[in-house]
Amino acid sequence: MTTRILIIEDEKPIREMIRFALEREGYAVDEAGDAAEATSRISRQRPDLMLVDWMLPEVSGVNLIRSLRRNEINRDIPVIMLTARGEESDKVTGLEAGADDYMSKPVAIKELLARIRALLRRSRGFSQEETLQAGIIKLNIATHQITINEQAVHFGQTEYRLLKFFLQHPERVYSRGQLLDLVWGETVYVEERTVDVHILRLRKLLKPYGVESMVQTVRGAGYRFSQAVES
Ligand code: CA
Repeated sequence: MTTRILIIEDEKPIREMIRFALEREGYAVDEAGDAAEATSRISRQRPDLMLVDWMLPEVSGVNLIRSLRRNEINRDIPVIMLTARGEESDKVTGLEAGADDYMSKPVAIKELLARIRALLRRSRGFSQEETLQAGIIKLNIATHQITINEQAVHFGQTEYRLLKFFLQHPERVYSRGQLLDLVWGETVYVEERTVDVHILRLRKLLKPYGVESMVQTVRGAGYRFSQAVES
């Protein structure tokens, strides 16, 4: 599987220079010029790693990372922060916001590639064995694969996120608004009814295996994922 890297940087020449170097190494590369564009790209296709420039227009790179880290799904995307600032206190701020590594600009490409490889190794080491499970449902966080009763089942992106969230937070009731914040992310505007649509799709995917009742409607409150049979 190709490793996908998202470059978030408002200076086009730098973005293109990095893109060229990464593509030569066999990475698939996406670009975003600001935080809003980055957020929409991430929601469409989750990158395996992100390079985030500190100084972005509107929302800064640091604040972008902070908001991504608050979101359950994007919490574990590895991030290397790029910055023209070289001060130690900036480095600390970047790392505290949730960056995994930090590089000063101008970016030395060889060093950047080495840091990317190291970070990917580290993050894969953590997540490779990370399989979430509930009964016959298994979700592999590293490969994004879902099997039910040992059979691979294809999930759409949103259904995947929903199921992942539920597997990580079983036996608790979440309102539609909470699910929107935690699964879709605060920066994305969607109606609460959208949640119902995707819950319906999720149940439909689980139904052939007789496990759709794990996704439970709690009247007047929201939804709960539970292995206990509804009474
Ligand atoms: Ca910049």
